Amino acid sequence: MKKGFVYIVFILISFSCSNQKQNLKHKNREDKPYVVMLSMDGFRWDYPEKANTPNLDYIEKTGVRADACIPCFPTKTFPNHYSIATGLYPDHHGIVHNSFYAPDIDKYYSISNIEAVTDSSFYFGEPVWLTAEKQGVKSASYFWVGSETTHDGIFPSYHYAYNSSVSFEERINGVINWLKLPAKDRPHLIMWYIEEPDSKGHDVGPNHPETLNMVEYLDSLVGIFYAQIRELPHSDSINVIITSDHGMSEISKDRVVFLEDFIKKDWCKYIDGDNPIYSVEAKTEYYDTIYHILSKVDHITIWKKSEIPERLHYGSSERVKDFVIVADSSWSILKSSSRKAYSGGTHGYDNQNKDMHAIFYAFGPAFKIGYKHKAINNIDINPLICKILEIYPAKIDGKIENTTQMLQDKN
Ligand code: AMP
Ligand code: ZN
Ligand code: ZN
Repeated sequence: MKKGFVYIVFILISFSCSNQKQNLKHKNREDKPYVVMLSMDGFRWDYPEKANTPNLDYIEKTGVRADACIPCFPTKTFPNHYSIATGLYPDHHGIVHNSFYAPDIDKYYSISNIEAVTDSSFYFGEPVWLTAEKQGVKSASYFWVGSETTHDGIFPSYHYAYNSSVSFEERINGVINWLKLPAKDRPHLIMWYIEEPDSKGHDVGPNHPETLNMVEYLDSLVGIFYAQIRELPHSDSINVIITSDHGMSEISKDRVVFLEDFIKKDWCKYIDGDNPIYSVEAKTEYYDTIYHILSKVDHITIWKKSEIPERLHYGSSERVKDFVIVADSSWSILKSSSRKAYSGGTHGYDNQNKDMHAIFYAFGPAFKIGYKHKAINNIDINPLICKILEIYPAKIDGKIENTTQMLQDKN
């Protein structure tokens, strides 16, 4: 009789303990940290030194600033946003240019073709929102590259189809509203995107007052965003990362190489990419001719696919063609002289070129205060996010060791 009583009490205690554990686990998820990451396209690493950016300066004092965020090669928008998301080099995640032919699936990719952008067969690797969702962490994307397509049949819990006419203010409201959702619905990972100052930088160049005015306007938006985060009851759990996909280099009508002055279009099967970086597939009989001619042209570099420097981690993908041709810093390569040569700015150059480097700022409970970090590679952002969210990263190229110095010691 006594034995039976003890047994029942034991069962009751264990049941109530396991219930408590369940509750605790649930409570913990809600209390767990948040990561909100903003990318402002083409925000060159040194814009804050050229323009008046009191809000970014404040974050530098109260959080972390890295000397730069180094993009992957080629330093274009889609390859890099998807590298930030997946922690993979473009060779490994499949988006090797903004536009390219993919022989493995016999399809053309272009950022202006919505059918291609939403076609999951182009995208490899696991974006961090998928890593989060798979481990029970809700995620949201406001226009992050790659989030308009499913990966393993999964989207971020909240996401929108890209629409450049949505104002930046509306995007801030959207992000803040996600953070105001009831705890059980609230995403712990939010990634959002603004297409400036890239657009201005292309139009007038990185040193033009209009670009610097745009930088100042964006800084004021960062200030509004910061203030709204601070008003949230759980603001003490929110970590914010502000970064970008690449920088911007000044170009000129006087520094242009026209490919058609040297080679014929019908010697090539494919010419992927755009100014200042191309990937060219030669018709077999013209392979040697193209290489010999273009290797003698000033202000450009041509690499055979097998001879691309290892530091660029580029060329193992079958989507990269026979040759990669890239202009020297601040030079343009256009296919034909019928294409108007522009001044203003562009990007896509070698990622060693400092003009291509982007900003990196972060603040929140996970980050040190007033900490200056050396330049980071953008593939290392994925494991950093995973570490803060307490989730396991997928198999990636990035390494957490490269950013742990910026984290508070408790992390
Ligand atoms: P680029 O300067 O050519 O490397 O690309 C920048 C452009 O990409 C921006 O002007 C954006 O309008 C465009 N863009 C960014 N995200 C998307 C998206 N998800 N879908 C289509 N276009 C996009
Ligand atoms: Zn970009
Ligand atoms: Zn651009």
